[in-house]
Amino acid sequence: MGNWEIFIIVVLVLGAILVIGNSQETIKWDHSNLTYSFENKSSCGKCEISDVSRAFYIIKNQTGLFNFEEIEEGNEDADFLIFCNNSIPKRKKDIPAGLASINKSGSTINSVKIIFYGINPPPSSGVLFGCSDDFPIVEIHEVLHGLGLVEHSNNPKSVFYNVDSGPLYGEEIDEIDEEIVERIVEIYG
Ligand SMILES: [Zn+2]
Repeated sequence: MGNWEIFIIVVLVLGAILVIGNSQETIKWDHSNLTYSFENKSSCGKCEISDVSRAFYIIKNQTGLFNFEEIEEGNEDADFLIFCNNSIPKRKKDIPAGLASINKSGSTINSVKIIFYGINPPPSSGVLFGCSDDFPIVEIHEVLHGLGLVEHSNNPKSVFYNVDSGPLYGEEIDEIDEEIVERIVEIYG
Protein backbone atom coordinates (compact mmCIF):
# COMPACT_ATOMS: atom_id res chain seq x y z
CA MET A 1 0.00 0.00 0.00
CA GLY A 2 1.07 3.59 -0.41
CA ASN A 3 3.66 5.15 -2.63
CA TRP A 4 7.39 4.79 -2.51
CA GLU A 5 9.70 7.78 -2.44
CA ILE A 6 13.37 7.21 -2.93
CA PHE A 7 16.28 9.26 -1.61
CA ILE A 8 19.85 8.50 -2.45
CA ILE A 9 23.02 9.86 -0.95
CA VAL A 10 25.87 10.02 -3.39
CA VAL A 11 29.37 11.31 -3.14
CA LEU A 12 30.13 13.74 -5.95
CA VAL A 13 28.05 13.96 -9.05
CA LEU A 14 26.59 10.83 -10.55
CA GLY A 15 23.88 12.60 -12.49
CA ALA A 16 20.50 13.64 -11.27
CA ILE A 17 19.69 12.89 -7.68
CA LEU A 18 16.68 10.69 -7.24
CA VAL A 19 13.85 12.40 -5.47
CA ILE A 20 10.58 10.98 -6.64
CA GLY A 21 7.36 12.51 -5.54
CA ASN A 22 6.40 15.92 -4.26
CA SER A 23 9.34 17.07 -2.17
CA GLN A 24 7.49 20.09 -0.81
CA GLU A 25 5.04 17.95 1.06
CA THR A 26 5.63 17.25 4.75
CA ILE A 27 5.67 13.55 5.43
CA LYS A 28 6.00 12.04 8.88
CA TRP A 29 5.46 9.05 11.09
CA ASP A 30 2.27 8.97 13.15
CA HIS A 31 4.08 7.30 16.07
CA SER A 32 7.36 7.99 17.81
CA ASN A 33 8.24 4.51 19.07
CA LEU A 34 9.88 3.14 15.97
CA THR A 35 11.38 -0.25 15.32
CA TYR A 36 14.20 -1.33 13.07
CA SER A 37 15.38 -4.66 11.81
CA PHE A 38 18.38 -5.77 9.81
CA GLU A 39 17.21 -7.82 6.88
CA ASN A 40 20.34 -10.00 7.12
CA LYS A 41 22.96 -9.16 9.71
CA SER A 42 25.60 -11.37 8.18
CA SER A 43 25.55 -9.25 5.03
CA CYS A 44 26.18 -6.14 7.10
CA GLY A 45 29.05 -7.15 9.34
CA LYS A 46 29.67 -6.01 12.88
CA CYS A 47 30.96 -2.55 12.00
CA GLU A 48 27.93 -1.58 9.97
CA ILE A 49 25.52 -3.05 12.52
CA SER A 50 27.22 -0.91 15.12
CA ASP A 51 27.16 2.21 12.91
CA VAL A 52 23.46 1.84 12.18
CA SER A 53 22.62 1.32 15.84
CA ARG A 54 24.73 4.34 16.79
CA ALA A 55 22.92 6.42 14.16
CA PHE A 56 19.54 5.64 15.73
CA TYR A 57 20.95 6.29 19.19
CA ILE A 58 22.41 9.67 18.20
CA ILE A 59 19.17 10.79 16.54
CA LYS A 60 17.20 9.74 19.61
CA ASN A 61 19.55 11.58 21.95
CA GLN A 62 19.84 14.77 19.93
CA THR A 63 16.16 15.18 19.16
CA GLY A 64 14.57 13.63 22.24
CA LEU A 65 11.57 12.86 20.06
CA PHE A 66 11.85 9.18 19.19
CA ASN A 67 12.50 5.78 20.64
CA PHE A 68 14.16 3.31 18.33
CA GLU A 69 14.04 -0.35 19.21
CA GLU A 70 15.88 -3.04 17.31
CA ILE A 71 13.71 -6.08 16.71
CA GLU A 72 14.67 -9.49 15.44
CA GLU A 73 16.54 -9.87 12.19
CA GLY A 74 14.51 -10.10 9.02
CA ASN A 75 11.25 -8.84 10.52
CA GLU A 76 9.47 -7.15 7.63
CA ASP A 77 7.01 -5.52 10.00
CA ALA A 78 9.77 -3.26 11.29
CA ASP A 79 9.31 0.45 10.65
CA PHE A 80 12.86 0.62 9.28
CA LEU A 81 14.19 -2.39 7.39
CA ILE A 82 17.96 -2.18 6.92
CA PHE A 83 19.79 -3.84 4.03
CA CYS A 84 23.51 -4.04 3.33
CA ASN A 85 24.80 -4.37 -0.20
CA ASN A 86 28.45 -5.09 -0.72
CA SER A 87 28.45 -5.38 -4.47
CA ILE A 88 30.42 -2.14 -4.37
CA PRO A 89 33.76 -2.93 -2.69
CA LYS A 90 34.00 0.10 -0.46
CA ARG A 91 32.70 3.57 -0.02
CA LYS A 92 34.58 6.12 -1.99
CA LYS A 93 33.99 8.94 -4.39
CA ASP A 94 31.50 8.48 -7.18
CA ILE A 95 29.56 5.64 -5.62
CA PRO A 96 26.28 5.72 -3.80
CA ALA A 97 26.67 5.11 -0.08
CA GLY A 98 23.06 4.78 0.94
CA LEU A 99 19.53 4.70 -0.36
CA ALA A 100 16.35 5.35 1.57
CA SER A 101 12.95 4.36 0.19
CA ILE A 102 9.88 5.61 1.97
CA ASN A 103 6.50 3.98 1.70
CA LYS A 104 3.75 6.45 2.56
CA SER A 105 0.02 6.85 2.47
CA GLY A 106 -0.82 10.49 1.97
CA SER A 107 1.51 12.32 4.31
CA THR A 108 1.99 9.40 6.71
CA ILE A 109 5.06 7.22 6.48
CA ASN A 110 4.21 3.53 6.60
CA SER A 111 7.65 1.97 6.36
CA VAL A 112 11.18 2.72 5.27
CA LYS A 113 13.78 0.58 3.59
CA ILE A 114 17.39 1.68 3.72
CA ILE A 115 20.23 0.10 1.79
CA PHE A 116 23.83 0.77 2.80
CA TYR A 117 26.43 0.14 0.14
CA GLY A 118 30.09 -0.66 0.17
CA ILE A 119 30.54 -1.67 3.79
CA ASN A 120 34.20 -1.72 4.75
CA PRO A 121 35.62 -4.11 5.80
CA PRO A 122 33.52 -6.64 3.91
CA PRO A 123 31.56 -8.75 6.37
CA SER A 124 32.82 -11.89 4.69
CA SER A 125 36.26 -11.08 6.06
CA GLY A 126 34.97 -11.69 9.55
CA VAL A 127 37.42 -9.18 10.93
CA LEU A 128 36.74 -6.24 13.14
CA PHE A 129 39.72 -4.09 12.40
CA GLY A 130 38.67 -1.29 10.15
CA CYS A 131 35.70 -0.54 12.37
CA SER A 132 36.01 3.05 13.42
CA ASP A 133 34.28 5.24 15.91
CA ASP A 134 33.77 7.93 13.28
CA PHE A 135 30.49 9.76 13.34
CA PRO A 136 28.14 7.57 11.24
CA ILE A 137 27.30 10.26 8.70
CA VAL A 138 25.79 8.11 5.96
CA GLU A 139 23.71 6.10 8.41
CA ILE A 140 22.33 9.20 10.14
CA HIS A 141 21.70 10.93 6.80
CA GLU A 142 19.59 8.05 5.50
CA VAL A 143 17.64 7.59 8.74
CA LEU A 144 16.86 11.32 8.69
CA HIS A 145 15.37 10.86 5.21
CA GLY A 146 13.38 8.00 6.71
CA LEU A 147 11.95 10.36 9.31
CA GLY A 148 10.56 12.52 6.53
CA LEU A 149 13.34 15.04 5.93
CA VAL A 150 13.52 15.70 2.24
CA GLU A 151 15.37 18.94 1.54
CA HIS A 152 19.10 18.73 2.00
CA SER A 153 21.09 21.31 3.92
CA ASN A 154 23.21 23.89 2.11
CA ASN A 155 25.80 23.72 4.88
CA PRO A 156 28.76 21.51 3.88
CA LYS A 157 29.34 20.77 7.55
CA SER A 158 25.83 19.41 7.97
CA VAL A 159 25.19 15.70 8.19
CA PHE A 160 22.30 16.47 5.86
CA TYR A 161 24.33 18.31 3.25
CA ASN A 162 23.40 17.65 -0.35
CA VAL A 163 26.41 15.54 -1.11
CA ASP A 164 25.42 15.46 -4.73
CA SER A 165 27.04 18.87 -5.03
CA GLY A 166 30.22 18.47 -3.08
CA PRO A 167 32.38 16.47 -0.70
CA LEU A 168 31.04 14.84 2.40
CA TYR A 169 33.89 12.77 3.71
CA GLY A 170 36.69 14.73 5.22
CA GLU A 171 34.39 17.33 6.66
CA GLU A 172 34.55 17.66 10.41
CA ILE A 173 31.12 16.47 11.42
CA ASP A 174 30.54 15.08 14.87
CA GLU A 175 26.93 15.91 15.61
CA ILE A 176 23.60 16.60 13.97
CA ASP A 177 23.68 20.33 13.35
CA GLU A 178 21.14 22.58 15.01
CA GLU A 179 19.39 23.47 11.75
CA ILE A 180 18.47 19.84 11.19
CA VAL A 181 17.45 19.21 14.79
CA GLU A 182 15.19 22.26 14.55
CA ARG A 183 13.63 20.98 11.36
CA ILE A 184 12.79 17.66 13.02
CA VAL A 185 11.33 19.47 16.01
CA GLU A 186 9.26 21.57 13.62
CA ILE A 187 7.78 18.44 12.08
CA TYR A 188 7.34 16.36 15.24
CA GLY A 189 7.68 18.66 18.23
ZN1 LIG B 1 20.20 12.71 1.04
